[in-house]
Amino acid sequence: MDRRQVDPKRELFRKLLRNIPSETVIRAMEQVPRDLFVPQDSRHMAYLDLPLSIGEEQTISQPYIVAMMTEALELSGGDRVLEIGTGSGYQTAILSALTPRGRVVSMERVPALMQQARQRLQELGYRNVEVQQAGSSLGCPFKGPYDAIIVTAAAPRLPESLLSQLAIGGRLVIPVGTLSQQELVQARRTDEGLSLRVLGPCRFVPLLGAEAFPQP
Ligand code: SAH
Repeated sequence: MDRRQVDPKRELFRKLLRNIPSETVIRAMEQVPRDLFVPQDSRHMAYLDLPLSIGEEQTISQPYIVAMMTEALELSGGDRVLEIGTGSGYQTAILSALTPRGRVVSMERVPALMQQARQRLQELGYRNVEVQQAGSSLGCPFKGPYDAIIVTAAAPRLPESLLSQLAIGGRLVIPVGTLSQQELVQARRTDEGLSLRVLGPCRFVPLLGAEAFPQP
């Protein structure tokens, strides 16, 4: 009988390396302890390629989707980055690791998640990050413009307010579609306007508040 244990973390990163072209992104993800961003009772599942519940009806995204979105941001080390939907702070930590000379502003709408993620990121030593309470409008224009904006909740269309916070050459990565199904979209702001690329299907919790789905 084969008694070798399958190491889920090793398996996960082997799979991601096979499927995501940017080794830099995957190596950065590998350095971030996902087990410390999920609730204690889900730790045994932290390195499975699954979204997991983090309370407050929210989820930490599936690692494959995190990798896809992070790659689509096309980050350089000095970029200014805006994240909408801090959640657990896992994606935030990866953004921080990939922009050591830049800055990450991450906005979260649920105060309890915001506080928890802020403390966790600080304790883990992610210094170029600030986690802020989201207000009634999207983003944080006065700290922009941003080289990259990532939205980790689903929107019915590209939010105008976020497009206006993008620097020329900046990339917005966001799931756009209906409540039940979306496409991951990369929008790049150029001198001439916007260039759009559809990356693939996905399913996210809905964005809440301004520029979100109408309330039933
Ligand atoms: N990136 C997260 C996933 C978070 S799930 C992680 O790695 O854990 C989406 C998050 O978006 C939820 O925490 C939700 O509260 C938040 N959210 C929804 N609408 C928002 C808004 N308008 N502004 C900021 N955060 C929002």
